[in-house]
Amino acid sequence: MKRREFVAAMASTVGAVSLQASVSAMEDSLPEQDTMMPAFFIGHGSPMNALEDNVFTRGWKQAMADVPKPAAILCISAHWLTKGTWVTGMPKPRTIHDFRGFPKELNEATYAVSGSAAIAESISKSITEPAVGLDQKWGLDHGAWSILLPVFPNTDVPVLEFSIDYDQPPQWHYDLGRKLTSLRKRGVLIIGSGNIVHNLGMLNPRMADSGFDWAIQFDDTLKSLIKEQEHSSIIHYTKLGREAALSIPTPDHYYPLLYTLGMQTKSDKVSLFNEQSVMGSISMTSVRIETATG
Ligand code: ZN
Repeated sequence: MKRREFVAAMASTVGAVSLQASVSAMEDSLPEQDTMMPAFFIGHGSPMNALEDNVFTRGWKQAMADVPKPAAILCISAHWLTKGTWVTGMPKPRTIHDFRGFPKELNEATYAVSGSAAIAESISKSITEPAVGLDQKWGLDHGAWSILLPVFPNTDVPVLEFSIDYDQPPQWHYDLGRKLTSLRKRGVLIIGSGNIVHNLGMLNPRMADSGFDWAIQFDDTLKSLIKEQEHSSIIHYTKLGREAALSIPTPDHYYPLLYTLGMQTKSDKVSLFNEQSVMGSISMTSVRIETATG
């Protein structure tokens, strides 16, 4: 065998061995299930939803009521923007109070749940491009725990957060979402947490339960595109005109939607809930994707 052939043969053996290792690591921590987990995009809105029983938190509970108990919850939060992609790998993720000006009871609220180093490692090994780093510093920001506290109050399912590499373009996030699809087959409940319309600079407290015309229009446009599975137009949202520019002044709260839609398979159906604008410039519209039956 020539040296070059030997090196090539070695490389493919090493590749096969490491792939084998990552599959068996996944099999240990997240065995394959018979059914695909639904996946969600949740419009999280105000951090106060963590403590409130309102139309939105009831909508979240209702939409997740029939979801089988997950092996783990993976939350892609608008509030964890990073260089590179990271998944939390600590055994006890802290509750991060990443907001100001809210009542004491919110600052004192905690979501005392376990993480899972083994599951984080499996996820990191199963995605090779991009590299997914194991984080030991972050925890759960309010993009995750303000939803989980009302919907999963028992804290008996391990929770991991997945960061958003803010240097990357929209298509990249959608493509990375696609790579997470296999976790749905392994009992992981994946929640993208953000808001389709999110313009804090134009918040109007006098418009508690309504939206500016441009906000409602953009939300309606997105709802149609989601129902029609026109993902390309959703990814290229900057071409959607003035309403898009006002609704997405920065894409942090929009990118989690791209991850969730990236996980939609051809046989999935999609449904919308909490279709409501609040404070003028925020939409709470949320998305559930699931395997179509019958
Ligand atoms: Zn937010």
